[in-house]
Amino acid sequence: MAETTSPYPHLLTPLTLGSGEDAVTLRNRVVMGSMHTGLEDRRVDLSKLAAYFAERARGGTGLIVTGGYAPNKRGWLKPFASEMTTRLHAMRHREVTEAVHAEGGAIALQVLHAGRYGYTPLSVSASAQKSPITPFRPSALSTKAVDRTATDFAKSVALAKKAGYDAVEIMGSEGYLINQFLAERTNDRTDRWGGSAYHRMRFPLEIVRRSRELVGAGFPIVYRISLLDLVDGGQTWDEVVDLARALEEAGVTVLNTGIGWHEARVPTIITQVPQGIWVEHTARLRREVGIPVCASNRINTPERAESILASGQADLVSMARPLLADPAFVRKAAEGRADEINTCIACNQACLDHVFSNKKASCLVNPRACHETTLVLAPTRAKRTVAVVGAGPAGLAAAVSAAERGLDVTLFERAERIGGQFRLAMEVPGKEDFRETLRYFTRRLEVLGVDVRLGTAPTAEDLKRFDEVVVATGVTPRVPEIDGLDHPAVVTYADVLAGRVVPGERVAVIGAGGIGVDVSVWLTHTEETPEEWLAHWGVGDPSFDRGGLTAPTPRTPTREVTLLQRKTTPIGIGLGKTSGWAHRAVLKQSGVRLVSGASYDAVAGAADAPVLHYSVDGEPRELAVDLIVLCAGQESVRDLYDELLALGVSATLIGGADVAAELDAKRAIGQGTRVAAAL
Ligand code: NAP
Ligand code: SF4
Repeated sequence: MAETTSPYPHLLTPLTLGSGEDAVTLRNRVVMGSMHTGLEDRRVDLSKLAAYFAERARGGTGLIVTGGYAPNKRGWLKPFASEMTTRLHAMRHREVTEAVHAEGGAIALQVLHAGRYGYTPLSVSASAQKSPITPFRPSALSTKAVDRTATDFAKSVALAKKAGYDAVEIMGSEGYLINQFLAERTNDRTDRWGGSAYHRMRFPLEIVRRSRELVGAGFPIVYRISLLDLVDGGQTWDEVVDLARALEEAGVTVLNTGIGWHEARVPTIITQVPQGIWVEHTARLRREVGIPVCASNRINTPERAESILASGQADLVSMARPLLADPAFVRKAAEGRADEINTCIACNQACLDHVFSNKKASCLVNPRACHETTLVLAPTRAKRTVAVVGAGPAGLAAAVSAAERGLDVTLFERAERIGGQFRLAMEVPGKEDFRETLRYFTRRLEVLGVDVRLGTAPTAEDLKRFDEVVVATGVTPRVPEIDGLDHPAVVTYADVLAGRVVPGERVAVIGAGGIGVDVSVWLTHTEETPEEWLAHWGVGDPSFDRGGLTAPTPRTPTREVTLLQRKTTPIGIGLGKTSGWAHRAVLKQSGVRLVSGASYDAVAGAADAPVLHYSVDGEPRELAVDLIVLCAGQESVRDLYDELLALGVSATLIGGADVAAELDAKRAIGQGTRVAAAL
C-alpha cells in the first residue's frame, strides 16, 4: 500500500468489485449497511430516499446498500411494502441511483424476501411454522413455488442492474426467508429444498446462479451470510463455511456478514453489546474464502473500523446506523476531523424502534436523518443574536443548529459542564457510548465558535439584549408525596448516578420507567469482560453449539434490588421496542425483584435502617433496605421562562422544561434542532 499520512489508511483504500464494464471502484472500505427507513415503500417518498442517500454519498461513503426490496408479493415485509418486480420500478429507481452517482458514490439494491417475518397473511416460508415475533403463520412454499421464488430473486437482481444500481445485495441473514431455508429450525421439508444441510443450501445457491446468468459475470453480487444464527436449531459453523465456499463458487463477489436472527434472544447491536464483539467470526470466515468479506454490527468509529481492516479481520466494514447518525462520517475521518463525527450511540430509539412500529426511521442524535428535504438548517445572513439557556440535549441541539445556520449564539449553563440528564445516562452500564454525543457537541460548539458560559445562570434581565431566547432549563427529579420521604435514606436517581451517595446492599427503587430500570441495572452490575458478556447471554462457539447458543452462565449481582411501580402492567413493557426485551432480561439475570401494582404507604425506620411500607392489592408489606431511590419521573424547571414572560421578553421553551412527561433525548434533540431551523 502506498505510504499515506491519513490516520485511516486501510479504511480509505479503494476497492474494485466486479469486472469488465460492470466493475465498480469503491472510494473506500465503508459500506453503509442496509436498513429499512420506511421511505422505500411508497413511490411518493422516492425523492426523499434519493436525498437521504445522496447526502451519505456526498459524505464520502464507499458503498451504500438500500433497505430491503422484495422479489415478489409473498416476500413483502408488510402489506404493500417495497418490491423490485417490474421495469417501471427499475425506471423510477433511476432517481435514486442518479442522485448517488452525481455525488460520486456507489449504491447496491438489497433484495430481501421476508419469509415468515412478513407482517402479512400472504407470508410464506420453507415450512408452515410461525415465528415468535409475527402474528401470521406462513404457508409452506410448494416445490415449484420455491423454484419460482429463486427465479424472482434473479429477476429483481437484473432489474436492479437496469435501474442503475452498481451492485446488489442478496439478504441471506437475520432470519429472513433464505435463512429460514438454511436452518433445520425452520426447514422440515423433505423435497430437494430441505433435509440435509447440502439440500437446505440449494435455495440461496440457485438464487445466485440464476442471478449470475441474468446479469453476467462482472456485475457485483454481495451476499449477506448469517455467521451466527443465535437461535436453537440454527446453522453450525461447518454449514456456514460450506455455504460460503459454495456461494463463492456460484459467483458471489463479496460476503457481507450478519449476526443473529430477529427472533434471537441475544442482543446483537444495542448499546450494551460490547463494540466489535462479533468481528472474530468475520475474521474466521475470511480465512475460509477467497473473496472480500465485510464485517458488521457494533462498529461505530473510524478507529475501530480501521483496526478491523488493518488487522486483516475483514476487507470492508459495514455501518448502517453510524451513517444515519452522521452522513459525513467518512469525509470527516478523511479530513482528520473524526472528533467532529456525530457518533451513533446504538440506542435504536429513532431508527429501528420507529421501523418496527411502522414509523419512518430517523436518528436520536441526528433528527435530519430521513428528513433531509424537510428539516433544513438554511444558512442565514441576518446578524441576529441567540441566547440558549441550558446545555442538556435540547439546548445543545438548539445552540449547535442555530450556529450552523450562521446565527450568533451564546449558550448558558448553570452547571460547570454541559450535558444535563445525558451526563447521568452515560453512567449507566452499557450506555458509555452516550459520552460520544457530549464529545460531539463539545467539539461542534468549539468549531462553530459558540460563546459557552458554564457555571452561569442568567436572569431574565440579562437576556433582554438578545434577539432570540431559547429556554432549555430542563427538569428536576419528581419527589412524590409519600409519608416520611424526608428520611435521610431517601435519595433521587440523580444522587445515585452522579455518585453523590454510595448505596448499601439492599435497595428499593420507586418508579420503573426507563430510569428506574437503568438505575436497577447500575445497582446490580459488575464489570464484565467481552467473554463474560457472551457467557452471560449464552453465546458459544458455533463449531460445537448449533446456532452459536449454549447455556448462559448466571450473573452475580452486587446488590439486592427491588424495583416497584404503581401500574399493574409488567415492568419495562413501555421500553423501546427493539431493546426493552434485553433490558428486562438483564433485570431477570441480575435477580432484581419486580413489584407491580404497589401503593406506597410510608417510609419509616431508623436513619440507617429504613423500611418502605407499601401495599399490593390492599395487602400491606414491608421492605427493609439500606437506601430508597426515587425514579418517579421529572418536573419541568421553568422559573426563568416565567420571569421572561413577566418581563415581556418573548422566548421559546424546549426539551424537558417544555414537557417533562416522557422526556427523552430523542424528543429534546429533535425539538432543539427544529426550533433552531425556524429561528
Ligand atoms: P418515566 O418513564 O415517565 O417513568 C416514571 C416512573 O415513575 C413510572 O414508572 C411511574 O410509574 C412512576 N411515577 C410517576 N409519578 C409517580 C409518583 N407521583 N409517585 C410514584 N411513582 C411515580 O420517566 P423516567 O424513568 O424518569 O424516564 C424519563 C424518560 O427517559 C422517559 O421518556 C424514558 O422513556 C426515557 N428513558 C428511556 C430509557 C430506555 O431504555 N429507552 C432509559 C432511560 C430513560 P407508576 O405511575 O406506575 O408508578
Ligand atoms: Fe444510532 Fe440511536 Fe441514531 Fe439509531 S437512533 S442511528 S441507534 S443514535
